[in-house]
Amino acid sequence: MASLQLDRMPLTRLKGVGPALQKKFQQLGIINVQDLLFHLPLRYEDRTKINPVNTARLGMTVQLEGEIASSNIQFGRRRSLHCVLTDGKGVISLRFFHFTAAQKDSLAPGTHIRCYGEVRRGRAGLEIYHPEYKVLEPGKEIPIADSLTPIYPTTEGIQQGRLRSVIGQALKLLDQAKDLSDYLPKSLVEKFGLPSLIESIQLIHSPPLDANMDWSETGGLPGQRRLAFEELLAHRLCMRQFKRRSEAQLAPRLQVDKKLASVFLDSLPFQLTKAQESAIQEIQGDLGRPFPMLRLLQGDVGSGKTVVAAMTALVAIASGYQVAIMAPTEILAEQHLANFSHWFSPLGIEPGWLSGKSKGKVREQTLGQLASGEIKLIIGTHALFQDDVEFARLGLVIIDEQHRFGVHQRLSLRDKASKADIHPHQLVMTATPIPRTLAMSAYADLDSSIINELPPGRTPVNTVLISNERRDEVVARIEQACRGGSQAYWVCTLIEESESLQAQAAEATFEQLGRQLATLQVGLVHGRMKPKDKQAVMRAFKQGRIQLLVATTVIEVGVDVPNASLMVIENPERLGLAQLHQLRGRVGRGSTQSHCLLLYQTPLSNNGKKRLTVMRESTDGFYIAEKDLELRGPGQVLGTQQTGLMTFRVADIGRDASLLDSVKAASESITQNHPEIIDPLIRRWIGERIHFVNV
Ligand code: ADP
Ligand code: MG
Repeated sequence: MASLQLDRMPLTRLKGVGPALQKKFQQLGIINVQDLLFHLPLRYEDRTKINPVNTARLGMTVQLEGEIASSNIQFGRRRSLHCVLTDGKGVISLRFFHFTAAQKDSLAPGTHIRCYGEVRRGRAGLEIYHPEYKVLEPGKEIPIADSLTPIYPTTEGIQQGRLRSVIGQALKLLDQAKDLSDYLPKSLVEKFGLPSLIESIQLIHSPPLDANMDWSETGGLPGQRRLAFEELLAHRLCMRQFKRRSEAQLAPRLQVDKKLASVFLDSLPFQLTKAQESAIQEIQGDLGRPFPMLRLLQGDVGSGKTVVAAMTALVAIASGYQVAIMAPTEILAEQHLANFSHWFSPLGIEPGWLSGKSKGKVREQTLGQLASGEIKLIIGTHALFQDDVEFARLGLVIIDEQHRFGVHQRLSLRDKASKADIHPHQLVMTATPIPRTLAMSAYADLDSSIINELPPGRTPVNTVLISNERRDEVVARIEQACRGGSQAYWVCTLIEESESLQAQAAEATFEQLGRQLATLQVGLVHGRMKPKDKQAVMRAFKQGRIQLLVATTVIEVGVDVPNASLMVIENPERLGLAQLHQLRGRVGRGSTQSHCLLLYQTPLSNNGKKRLTVMRESTDGFYIAEKDLELRGPGQVLGTQQTGLMTFRVADIGRDASLLDSVKAASESITQNHPEIIDPLIRRWIGERIHFVNV
């Protein structure tokens, strides 16, 4: 049976997969049967028991069986189908916001169903929104699952049930074939005590009931560790390969102009910190070499990375090359524009500007000046690297707040910025402390400098937790502070990643606060506003004409208004600690004592309380990032969402830190002794998702 080649077998060989479904699988990167085996569960659900209805509690995920007692359509803020389910011992509500007429009929009173979902507090008490359910026909047994039910990442048009059945078939084939290329050399497998690949794959798709899914402490399922190891290894190999390739590339050698540098430094109202100086030293060392610098500059919020960027830019400009500075948001890019204009105009360098909103004649003119080399320094958003943007002599690219851009973007940008055989140097800056797991994979192509001290004279921000029941007190406090001459932020957050919902929430808050604080000038800024309006508001805030700025998290990165000393963050429990830390970094920039009020929604979960307490107790970004990882609930895949950097299928940036040293050693050994397995490993784990691997 060993002739069953799973990596050659098309999906259409499986029952129930026709050309249409095959296409949909393609969207998930699944081409053949082997790919199915490496499509790994996101999490598992325990559907091996039926819970009595009266034991259902808020927050529990339960499987219930019972009879529909009533079923009707309710009108309110949103139309919904409301069913009451009873098993004779207790009652609970099921609510559907999306439902068809057929579905309503299938849930008529008297129907018996089995359903599964999370218990929440709804209009009618305890409710389950959109439970998964099956109608139970009299006399027909539907067996209960006897192992954990895997939940897979999916795409529109592929139901979980379908996915499970197709992957189940693939597992059966694996069982027969017992053949899955294990690329790792035996010596490595033995050295690191890794279990077999086939067993690992089988285990992860159908773990036994008593499996310990949280292997942060215990080591958990050996299969999961094996796969996480292989995945991290593939990512690291991929990035290292990229680094080696770029070291073989040509970059302009840039010479430091000592005079220009000292004129610039003398014009600053402060002295560089030791940490800033040594980062500049490291960077200048790189710039003098004939291959591209690829350096990550990490430094906590407010540590002064911008000046380091300016010193770097001066080296390139003085050597006759152009510099591009890219920021993730317009607001941040505009702020850089203001800073660099202020700093560089006296040196005879006028920065240019290019964003997605630059249009028509102005844009054309800028493009012309970039192509002719007239503009030495250009500042903007990702629009800087659209296809029609041409540089005469681009020598350096600086990317700020890199964690907002993905690895893809960073690498493809490096391609775009290259011209003929000359590749620009690259400096990547981030204020988000990067967990080692991520640093060793997503950033394994970069060298790193760290600014580990803040400029002197900063007073740490005082952070307070306040329940939203005391909102009025908070409003009074803002009034008092602003009357006393300081300025404040009010940050609105929403779980939804939708800019328009965020904007709506901020608008509502803006109106309300404007009414409550009639004596103050209140401003509003959010991502949906026209750039001109945004700029005007930010300028007014910077100049003190606006005292209270209501904002969405668009102000998270980079905004610098030293007179602002009070920040209110609504619903802070919804945000990651790293993000809260970024937000809070907007205050505490002057010499006066600043305050950050975390206005949380009651009731606050235990974990929520712990997380916010970390914010109260520390202002150290690295410590906060570590705690953030530690306090995440098990199984919560925050890694990717939080950083936007890299998607892992099984590895977890918090949990798998202990694997890193072995991964690093294995990656070196493979590069030395088994370079032939690098490509297959990368293809298996990263595949088509990283097109730049082959550039
Ligand atoms: P970040 O690292 O968060 O980007 P910035 O570069 O915006 O920080 O710097 C924060 C503030 O600190 C700015 O107002 C900047 O002018 C100021 N600053 C930078 N370096 C120093 C220094 N060595 N001493 C005093 N202030 C400094
Ligand atoms: Mg910054």
